[in-house]
Amino acid sequence: MAHIVIVGAGLGGMPAAYEIRELLGKEHRITVVNSTDYFQFVPSNPWIAVGWREREDITLPIEPYLTRKGINFIAQGVTHIDAPGNQVTLADGQTLAYDYLVITTGPKLAFSEVPGAGPVASGGGGFTHSICSVDHAQAFFADYQKFLENPGPVVIGAMPGASCFGPAYEFAFILDTDLRRRKLRNKVPITYVTSEPYIGHLGLGGVGDSKSMLESEMRNRDMKWITNAKTTRVEEGKLFVTQLDDLGNVYKEHEVGFKLSMMLPAFKGVDAVAAVPHLCNPRGFVLIDEFQRSKAYRNIFSAGVCVAIPPVETTPVPTGTPKTGYMIESMVGAIAHNIAADLAGLPAEDKGTWNAICLADMGDTGAAFVALPQIPPRNVNWFKKGKWVHLAKIAFEKYFLRKIRKGNSEPVYEKYVLKALGIVRLTDRAK
Ligand SMILES: Cc1cc2nc3c(=O)[nH]c(=O)nc-3n(C[C@H](O)[C@H](O)[C@H](O)COP(=O)(O)OP(=O)(O)OC[C@H]3O[C@@H](n4cnc5c(N)ncnc54)[C@H](O)[C@@H]3O)c2cc1C
Repeated sequence: MAHIVIVGAGLGGMPAAYEIRELLGKEHRITVVNSTDYFQFVPSNPWIAVGWREREDITLPIEPYLTRKGINFIAQGVTHIDAPGNQVTLADGQTLAYDYLVITTGPKLAFSEVPGAGPVASGGGGFTHSICSVDHAQAFFADYQKFLENPGPVVIGAMPGASCFGPAYEFAFILDTDLRRRKLRNKVPITYVTSEPYIGHLGLGGVGDSKSMLESEMRNRDMKWITNAKTTRVEEGKLFVTQLDDLGNVYKEHEVGFKLSMMLPAFKGVDAVAAVPHLCNPRGFVLIDEFQRSKAYRNIFSAGVCVAIPPVETTPVPTGTPKTGYMIESMVGAIAHNIAADLAGLPAEDKGTWNAICLADMGDTGAAFVALPQIPPRNVNWFKKGKWVHLAKIAFEKYFLRKIRKGNSEPVYEKYVLKALGIVRLTDRAK
């Protein structure tokens, strides 16, 4: 009987475990391995960073929920994957043999690519913050509380090679809302510095009217911006930026001063995955076919931020394509069906829809986009703003955390609300 090992228990790994459990008979074993013993709902980190959420609100212990569903859990990092030998090595040296390996390890945060950037504990220089993990968001909040006593300029944005722009905008707007509520916004000039070629590009070549809507929102909130920004280094209180023109030539050099900064880094694949021969592209992202299956190893599947997706278009400063939660779940659904098919001796035929859906909170209102498919021209391509998005984002958090607790792989919210928007997770064959 088969042993399925899932490495990484984040937004992709947890639903993968539940869906595979639901589809496979009890004779098959499932083991989840994660470097921490808790699950964190990453999309809520911007709220942690301004104190609108506590750590306990968005983290859950993994073990009890998986055990209840008959899934084994090991809280350890995987240090080595022996793909030809079908086994993984864990941090304590023990090995785990598998029949199928599902890689959902998310990103390695590449702070070290820009000298001075990112938290020291994550390989960075210590001068900018991040909200990519709950620990990082809490570190921002600690500094933010000191900053509020003596406020000054803030820089928010995304480094060269970044792919996750939605949370950078979201965080800029949330911080603006929080400062306005505290009546301190007048003391805090905010500059948005991004590798995107224009505001609203989002790593997707824009979605609907995202350019003019986000520009207008930033103007209304008194934010300045620098696009095509290649941040080259950070020193205490200073971001050094080479701004390129649309042809990729140097347009202007900037030295942007700040008292507090949050810059999202570029992503890479995590070391243990990136080191497997023939598995990944040069940045360590897993090369997969349309069925989420490794091109090199037929019993390895992968989903989430760790998979290789080509950029939607070439930009003067490199940008990547975002991988959002719903897209990740569509990948996971395909993996569960394809492993079940493989075990039954049938061909793997299920494909995720890879629809890009993003809900970005702005504190009091919000912006949502839907890009179906993600590469233009699209069948559905809209970007809308409204208070409903702020509420939908809160609902997304509550439903996702409930789903992790209950072990449902596709609860009501997704089945009915998203279906009503014309959004489904698997391509036609699987419906
Ligand atoms: C700040 C932020 C906000 C976001 N907001 C949204 C949003 O609002 N909506 C949306 O749709 N998307 C959002 N995203 C994008 C995306 O949905 C998230 O990044 C999501 O967490 C990605 O899921 P994942 O499973 O690929 O990776 P993760 O959720 O990061 O999970 C990866 C897991 O693998 C584990 N791991 C890593 N290496 C190893 C190893 N060697 N051994 C064992 N375990 C390992 C990690 O500990 C982690 O638990 C956001 C991203 C960020 C960074």
